[in-house]
Amino acid sequence: MVYLKSCPRCRGDLFIERDHRDRYITCLQCGHVLTTTEEMVLQFRSGTWANVAPPRQQNLD
Ligand SMILES: [Zn+2]
Repeated sequence: MVYLKSCPRCRGDLFIERDHRDRYITCLQCGHVLTTTEEMVLQFRSGTWANVAPPRQQNLD
C-alpha cells in the first residue's frame, strides 16, 4: 500500500514499512515517520481505514 503525495511535511509519497512487531508509514522523499495521529488522518482521508489499534489513552496529568 502506497499513499501518493500524502506526506504532511513535503507532500511526498508514503509507504508502509513493517518489521517483526510494528508497521509504520514513512515518506519516501523526506523520511518522515508518521505519528499515530497522522496515520489516522491519512487513512480517514484516503478512505482506506485499516485495522489499526485505537490510539493509546494519554496521561493528562
Ligand atoms: Zn515527506
